[in-house]
Amino acid sequence: MRRHTDYALARRAVLRDLQRGSVTRLDVCDAHPELLRAGRNVGDVAPYDCPVCGQDAVRFVSYVYGEKLGAANGRCISYAGELEKLGAAHDEFTRYVVEVCLDCRWNHLSRRELHGRRHAESGATADSGRRVARR
Ligand SMILES: [Zn+2]
Repeated sequence: MRRHTDYALARRAVLRDLQRGSVTRLDVCDAHPELLRAGRNVGDVAPYDCPVCGQDAVRFVSYVYGEKLGAANGRCISYAGELEKLGAAHDEFTRYVVEVCLDCRWNHLSRRELHGRRHAESGATADSGRRVARR
């Protein structure tokens, strides 16, 4: 089990606000061009349609952050096996998975995971992840 934080609750809250009209599409469909490009070129196809526009255009893009990652710090994962390779080479880093719609530019943080050798074996707890989720 990897430590991870799921942002499904925050996502639902945003979508509820959108339905109620307290936020507009302009507020939530504001994906940065770089994120759209990453989604188009290296994103993974999401198994569901866009919650805002209903198009089959949602992609997952992963970014990795870690002091020790060096040149890879802040980069998006761009080829199959890259995450595993980084995981084998570093003790700890964080992966953020963002969902982005290539059609309407909806985007939201989907989940946060801790990776690396320190988290490779089972027995890790999800404590640090939960703390972040409560912020
Ligand atoms: Zn959309």
